[in-house]
Amino acid sequence: MAELANCERCNRVFVKQFREICNACYKKEEEDFKTVYTYLRKRENRAATMGQIIAATGIDEHLLHKFIRENRLQPSQFPNLSYPCERCGNPITEGNICDDCQTQLKEDLMQHEAVESLQEKTFQETKEKTYYAKGEWKKD
Ligand SMILES: [Zn+2]
Ligand SMILES: [Zn+2]
Repeated sequence: MAELANCERCNRVFVKQFREICNACYKKEEEDFKTVYTYLRKRENRAATMGQIIAATGIDEHLLHKFIRENRLQPSQFPNLSYPCERCGNPITEGNICDDCQTQLKEDLMQHEAVESLQEKTFQETKEKTYYAKGEWKKD
């Protein structure tokens, strides 16, 4: 069954098969990939920075990030490749967020849990007090 979708890149309607982008965009991406890869394979360009790669190849920065995220361009081969952390934008070479953000998120989660158990405690205490108050009222 053919499914129609909007291309993630150019927004044109296309028949969706295996990709989120249309054929024209896919071809363009493959060309861009070849351009970047050819550039990086040259020994003198291996350690090129992201800025140098973008300037030399004219590739879209987001597309370059995508290639690295998908591991088509590997930071183990080209030491200056990175893409931004989804949370703070720091350059990273694997996963979605940087180490700092991972630590931060863990702390936030722990704090969140602490707050929740505190709220639960307060709720219990309030319930007890209410019960008491009612009991006293009944006694009177
Ligand atoms: Zn497209
Ligand atoms: Zn981060």
